[in-house]
Amino acid sequence: MFAKRLETGSLRHSSSVYGKSREGIPLTVWLPEDGTPEILILAAIHGDEPETTVVVSDALRAIDKGGLKNAAILCGNPDGLLRGTRGNAIGVDLNRNLPTSNWSPEPVLYKSTRKGPQDIKLSPGAEPASEPETRALLSLVDEMKPRAVVSLHGALACIDDEGGSKLGQWIAERTGLPLEEVGYPTPGSFGSWAREHDLTLVTYELEAASLYDLKERHTPVLIELLTGAMEIGE
Ligand SMILES: [Zn+2]
Repeated sequence: MFAKRLETGSLRHSSSVYGKSREGIPLTVWLPEDGTPEILILAAIHGDEPETTVVVSDALRAIDKGGLKNAAILCGNPDGLLRGTRGNAIGVDLNRNLPTSNWSPEPVLYKSTRKGPQDIKLSPGAEPASEPETRALLSLVDEMKPRAVVSLHGALACIDDEGGSKLGQWIAERTGLPLEEVGYPTPGSFGSWAREHDLTLVTYELEAASLYDLKERHTPVLIELLTGAMEIGE
C-alpha cells in the first residue's frame, strides 16, 4: 500500500483534467488506478490556504499506485494559490459561489489574521456558479458521484460536519480536532450545496502550525482517507 520512501518525491498516480481555471490553468483530480472513488478530497479552494495542498500531496505521494482508493484535488483554485489570494483571479471567493438557495450577491467578508476583524471584502461572483472553477467542480462531483467530500481549509482547527456523519466523527477522533461548526454563516459554500444535495461534506480545518507539524499530524489521517481505511456511514 505504501510507496517506497525513496520514491515519494513525486506524484505517480493517474490524474484527469476536469476543467480550467479562469486564467486557463488545468484543474486536476488524482484518481485510483481502478474502482470508483467513494470519497473526494478537496484542497485549496481558498488560494491562501496552500498548507492544505501540501498535506494532501504528502499523503498521496506516500501511497503506491494500487493502494489509492479515493480521489483528491490538490488545488481547487490554482489562480488564487499562485496569487496568494483567498479568491480566484478576479477576486471571487469560490466557496461562496455555489448555486445554493442561500446564495447572496452581497460581498462576503473574511479575516486575514487570527484575532483580526472579519473586514476584507470578496465577491461571491456575479451569479451562482459564475466561475469556471465552480462549474468544473460541480461537473466532476456530478460525474464521479462520491459518497462524501472532505474539504480542507485552514486554520480554524476544527472538523465541521453539520450532517453529523460517521466520517466527520472519525476524522475528529483521528486528528484530535474538535467537532464543531466554523461559527459564521457561509452562503453559497460547498457545505451548503452538499446539504441541499444529500451529499456528506466534512470541512476539515487544519490548525495554524508549520508545514512540518501539519504533516506529522495530518498526513497519516489523510493516508487512511485516501486508502479507504475508514467507514463513511450514511
Ligand atoms: Zn478556507
